[in-house]
Amino acid sequence: MARYDYTCGRCGVFEVVRPIDAPAPEPPTCATCGGAATRLYAPPALTSPRSALRRARDTAEASAHEPAVLHSPPAPPRRPARPPNPLHARLPKP
Ligand SMILES: [Zn+2]
Repeated sequence: MARYDYTCGRCGVFEVVRPIDAPAPEPPTCATCGGAATRLYAPPALTSPRSALRRARDTAEASAHEPAVLHSPPAPPRRPARPPNPLHARLPKP
């Protein structure tokens, strides 16, 4: 769905929600009084400010100028602890 913002001189700001493949209503009219309205343009909200993509982009940008220096290989990721398998008790002991 696409959201279009409009402002009416008498009623103020209102929004119109339409299917994404439908064009914006032209000429715009106020949903309340039917008078002339003006479309408001705003930047689309494509991502949240701290999305994973944003964090990855910030990390890549920071590493271009100040690469992190590692003195040892990074630790492998921790695996979740598994409950012991009771069948392991039956295995022959060395
Ligand atoms: Zn109006």
